[in-house]
Amino acid sequence: MAALGPLWARELWGAAKNLARDAGTADLRNATRIGGGIRRRPSDANWPSQAAWKRLNDEVDGNLIPVEFPIEACLKDTESAACQNLFNNIHNPYYIGDQPGLTQTLGWVDAWVSKPSVYVVAASNADHIAAAVNFARENDLRLVVKGGGHSYQGTSNAADSLLVWTRCMHDITMHETFVPQGCKGKHTPQRAVTLGSGAIWMQAYDAVTTKGGAYVQGGGCTTVGVAGLVQSGGFGSFSKHYGTAAAGLLEAEVVTADGKVRIANACTNSDLFWALKGGGGGTFGAVSKVTLRVRELPEFWGAAILTVKAASDGAFRRLLRYFVGFYREHLFNDHWGEHAHIASDNVLDLLVVCHDLSTEEVKKIWQPFLDWVARLPAA
Ligand SMILES: Cc1cc2nc3c(=O)[nH]c(=O)nc-3n(C[C@H](O)[C@H](O)[C@H](O)COP(=O)(O)OP(=O)(O)OC[C@H]3O[C@@H](n4cnc5c(N)ncnc54)[C@H](O)[C@@H]3O)c2cc1C
Repeated sequence: MAALGPLWARELWGAAKNLARDAGTADLRNATRIGGGIRRRPSDANWPSQAAWKRLNDEVDGNLIPVEFPIEACLKDTESAACQNLFNNIHNPYYIGDQPGLTQTLGWVDAWVSKPSVYVVAASNADHIAAAVNFARENDLRLVVKGGGHSYQGTSNAADSLLVWTRCMHDITMHETFVPQGCKGKHTPQRAVTLGSGAIWMQAYDAVTTKGGAYVQGGGCTTVGVAGLVQSGGFGSFSKHYGTAAAGLLEAEVVTADGKVRIANACTNSDLFWALKGGGGGTFGAVSKVTLRVRELPEFWGAAILTVKAASDGAFRRLLRYFVGFYREHLFNDHWGEHAHIASDNVLDLLVVCHDLSTEEVKKIWQPFLDWVARLPAA
């Protein structure tokens, strides 16, 4: 995530200008992208009346909020206090996550740009989500769901839409003997955790590992949303051992397009359940809760964090060649995860983690690499 903050800040002004320039064409693209039809826009005569919005607000217990687009302040005046406030905070993924009008990236050149919804339902339960889904369906509105806001494809934001925002839904319950609904007698009770769909992985790991002394397989980036990651498959630091996050999904509570709150697991609505295991966020419904498998903690966790700078392009090429071989021999197995980053200036940054290896075993694995690097010629 750290890499995204500076990216945001660097591109913010340019993208803000593009937003203004592209407003007309981007709207048309978006209009045809979702649902295949033209949805109602605020400028349309049949946009819902204030009275209709008020009825929705009552149904969602006052949680219907007009969406502010913080970038607007910079479009008007880059020197304004509001714009300076945005620049001061935009490096912080938690700040971005707390803004219904922002997403964790500004977009993708010529593919999409981050655009705010008109209203957000800051849902706190499945009934709020159902009310929003029904309102959007009955009024032919664009509807979008956002959890952690980390969609690379821009699928959690859409201009002129109604947003279901799950940020406030982060209740977490641990179970010692969980059996999915309708699976009694078919499934052995097992340890599990139920997470509100707006929880981020930091909250999940805190509850399951720090407080619960156990492990749940999620993603490596701790500000990613739980429901978004599970529905996109989800590969994390120890997935080579524990499998994808989607593989750990035992049950979901989902609001489908007809506004019904459904339970999906291997025994109940099983087609929907399999579809949620990697079929893409927002495709099959709005998820309100997920229940994931919980594992025993291994005896050891560890990490190897190294930065190696080669003295020349030639030495760097030799280093990369050696590292790829070293990876194949020693790290390409289910003990190791995370990443190697080939940086500029002939720098190789390694941040790899391991489980079930003692300190002695880790040292033994890495010693040949360290010895080789020590012998790497200075030029
Ligand atoms: C910095 C960064 C690091 C990442 N690291 C990893 C990683 O380690 N492993 C990995 O596998 N992936 C990773 N990803 C990809 C990430 O898992 C996906 O983009 C994921 O879909 C993001 O989920 P979100 O809730 O944060 O995002 P959002 O943008 O909120 O949602 C993503 C999609 O899911 C939908 N969605 C969200 N919540 C719900 C819900 N409750 N019900 C229905 N649909 C919903 C949205 O509509 C959207 O289509 C990373 C992405 C970023 C930007």
